[in-house]
Amino acid sequence: MSERETSGHSRLSLNGLSCVYGKVAAVDHLSMDIAPGEFISLLGPSGCGKTTTLRMIAGFIRPTGGTITMDGEIISSPEGSLPPEKRQMSMIFQSYAIWPNMTVAENVAFGLKLRHFDRASIRTKVQAMLDTVRLGGLADRYPAELSGGQQQRVALARAMVIEPRVLLLDEPLSNLDANLREEMRFEIRRLHDAFHFTTVYVTHDQGEAMVTSDRIAVMNQGRLEQIEAPHALYTRPKTRFVAGFIGRTNLLEGRIAGDRIAFDHFDLPRGVFQAHELATSGAVVFSVRPHSISLHREAGTSDQHIAVQAQLVERAYLGEYWDYVVSPVGSDVRLKVAATPSQVFEVGDTLWLKFDLQQMAPIEA
Ligand code: ATP
Repeated sequence: MSERETSGHSRLSLNGLSCVYGKVAAVDHLSMDIAPGEFISLLGPSGCGKTTTLRMIAGFIRPTGGTITMDGEIISSPEGSLPPEKRQMSMIFQSYAIWPNMTVAENVAFGLKLRHFDRASIRTKVQAMLDTVRLGGLADRYPAELSGGQQQRVALARAMVIEPRVLLLDEPLSNLDANLREEMRFEIRRLHDAFHFTTVYVTHDQGEAMVTSDRIAVMNQGRLEQIEAPHALYTRPKTRFVAGFIGRTNLLEGRIAGDRIAFDHFDLPRGVFQAHELATSGAVVFSVRPHSISLHREAGTSDQHIAVQAQLVERAYLGEYWDYVVSPVGSDVRLKVAATPSQVFEVGDTLWLKFDLQQMAPIEA
C-alpha cells in the first residue's frame, strides 16, 4: 500500500474560518491550505481553539463564519455543513473509542463491512493493515487484553484501513505514559510516510508536533500565529508567542541606528544580519535560543560571531547540559545559555559570549 498515490488524497482549505460561542471567539478568522498528503499539526495552549477547528473539519460543529473546502467543494459554512459521515474522513480520539466487545480484527474490519467490501478483500486489507501497525499476531484479542499503546494502534488501523480522504487526530497520545508517547510519535510519522493521508493532528505537545508534522500551525486565542515546517518554525519564529511556545528562548530587545544595533550596554553591526531585511532605524527584537550563544574565556576573532563581555550570574547542572545565565557587563539583560557538560564555568566568572548570528531571528517587535 506504500505506493498509494498521494494525488488521491484531498486538499483542505480553511478560509476565514470562525466559531463564536456567545462572546468567545473560539476560532477567529483562521485560514490555511493543507496540501494533498500533507501532515499538519494544530499546536497551541489549552483553549486556543485547536479542538474546535478539528471538529469543524470533521463536520461536528458548523462554523459561524468562513468556509472549509475539500478539493474545491464547500463542506462547511454558516449556511450548511456536510454531515460527518459523508465526508469520508476518519477521526481518532484520545480515548481510542475502539469497541470492547469486538476483537482487534473485527474492530478494524468494521468500517470496511459498512462500506460493503466482500469478505475476501476485507480479510486481506485487515491483515495487511494489522501487519503495518505491528499487531499482526493479535488479531483475535479483545481490547481489554491489549496495552494502551496496542489499543491506540488498533484505533489507527481502524481509521486508516478505509483509506480516508482526511485523517483527523485529537491528542491521540495523551493517555499513554511518557515513554510510549515518545515511541508512538515516530510510529505515527512512519505510518504517514507509508500512506500519505492528508492529516490534521491536534496537540499541545511541541515535541509531538515536531516529530510528526510536515508543517505546524501555531494557534493562539483562536488565531493562527504562524504555520511553517518544524525547523523553520524553531529557527525563525515570527512572533514572541511562537518564540516562547516552541522551545526556550531569549528575547533580546534592541534599537537600530544606521549601521549598528544597540542593545543594553552592547551593540552589534546591522550588516551581520544580511539574511533578514532589517529597517535602518526603530526597535527590533531577536529570538536567541540558549544553544545559539556560546561562552569563552577569550574573545578571539571571528567573522561569524561577535563577542560580548559578560558575567556568569547563575548556573544549574542538568546532566545532559549546563544551564547558565549570563549578563553582559553593565547590563540588566539576562541570557540563558546551554553548554555541554565539559564547559564548566563558575558563578562570577567574566567571560565572552558569542552569538550564532545565523540563528538569531528578528521577530515582530
Ligand atoms: P484544549 O487543548 O484544552 O483541548 P483547545 O485548544 O482544543 O483546548 P477548544 O476546545 O477549541 O480549545 O476551545 C476554544 C475556546 O472555546 C475555549 O475558550 C473554550 O472554553 C471555548 N469553547 C469550546 N467549546 C465551547 C462550547 N461548546 N461553548 C462555549 N465555549 C466553548
